[in-house]
Amino acid sequence: MVDADTIVVGAGPAGLACAAAMSQLGLKVGILEKSDVVASVWRRHYDRLHLHSDRGHSGLPGMPMPRTYPRYPSRAQVVEYLENYAAHFDLRPIFNSTVRTIGRDGSTWRVDAEKRSFVAPVVVIATGWADFPHLPTWPGADAYTGSVIHSTEYNNPAALAGKRVLVVGFGNSGGEIALDLAQASVDVTLAVRGPVQILPRELLGLPILTWAIAEARLPARVADFINAPAIRLAVGSVKHLGLKIASKGPRRMIEEDRRIPLLDVGTLARIRDGTIKVRGGIDRFTSDGVVFSNTPAEAFDCIILATGFSPDLRKLLPEAKGVFDRHGMPLATGRATLEPGLFFCGLIASATGQLREIGIEAQRIAQLAKAYLSR
Ligand SMILES: Cc1cc2nc3c(=O)[nH]c(=O)nc-3n(C[C@H](O)[C@H](O)[C@H](O)COP(=O)(O)OP(=O)(O)OC[C@H]3O[C@@H](n4cnc5c(N)ncnc54)[C@H](O)[C@@H]3O)c2cc1C
Repeated sequence: MVDADTIVVGAGPAGLACAAAMSQLGLKVGILEKSDVVASVWRRHYDRLHLHSDRGHSGLPGMPMPRTYPRYPSRAQVVEYLENYAAHFDLRPIFNSTVRTIGRDGSTWRVDAEKRSFVAPVVVIATGWADFPHLPTWPGADAYTGSVIHSTEYNNPAALAGKRVLVVGFGNSGGEIALDLAQASVDVTLAVRGPVQILPRELLGLPILTWAIAEARLPARVADFINAPAIRLAVGSVKHLGLKIASKGPRRMIEEDRRIPLLDVGTLARIRDGTIKVRGGIDRFTSDGVVFSNTPAEAFDCIILATGFSPDLRKLLPEAKGVFDRHGMPLATGRATLEPGLFFCGLIASATGQLREIGIEAQRIAQLAKAYLSR
């Protein structure tokens, strides 16, 4: 028995956007979500988080973010928006349904969740990458007596008052968590392994995303070349701060390395005034701290790994052919894959805002799914 036209796995922004877009086209959609609420990952993000992308470019299809929200909505507002989005489109995920594997069953897909299996001709994977924190290891790490957490486990500075904290990584989570700690007068150091890219959140009064969208059709090298002087002027010199600007520009960094540059919301000012110290990469751990590549050993009570994510979805689709790259990331997201009726949404880093891209992908997937079902 077929349960729906489409099974969507995940009730985060991508799953909700896909389900809304498909039901608007008259498709019968079932959503399977492993937690017991929508937007579960946004509920877990650290307290001070605000969107780095502006409200106007962060809404999902069919329902913009409310005008009463600030230009950069808070984490709580994103959660509220996603709850209202689900209610507006009458999306009712089946909660507490962790999908274990998905496989072909003749011309349909069989989706095996914890408690039961579902069958549908179309499946959309919208599971995000929060379940795949990247946890690098260093020599001596076993002997370290302090605590080590991933950025996804950090909530706020309260538990770290009076401690010496090392934040590893200079992405958006690392930069903002270091800022959060510095503003709470926690002794904080940032370990920055290699060259970085830093962008202002706004350029000439406009959100940086507006510029990225305007230049989306330009080749990455050209866009980076055009933007370089304005970004240099806005960010200022960072050489004397222990940071080195990468020769690869921000667009190329995203497209080629899937690394999002730091959108500075105040971290740089705290590095400049010395409240956030900068060190190089970690060489090895000691029993009470680390040895950096460029300085002697230093003691830390807590190390926060803001080292990103390394998603690998192959376990979910063990039999799928020609769908994943060598790391287990989908080769195509928001488009048809080599497996008929199988789609991924939101699983790519983008210069033009991931929520915005999720919305675009969701609408395209809905059209493709409808065409596939009526073939
Ligand atoms: C700290 C942080 C800040 C960000 N800020 C921005 C920003 O400002 N602007 C922007 O555009 N983007 C931002 N992003 C990127 C992106 O927009 C978000 O990560 C967004 O939540 C991705 O949506 P998603 O639905 O793909 O994944 P998620 O939000 O991770 O949702 C996936 C859902 O799938 C469920 N799930 C996972 N596995 C299974 C399974 N096996 N079975 C059933 N359910 C499952 C999860 O429980 C979850 O509910 C940010 C990301 C992070 C980490």
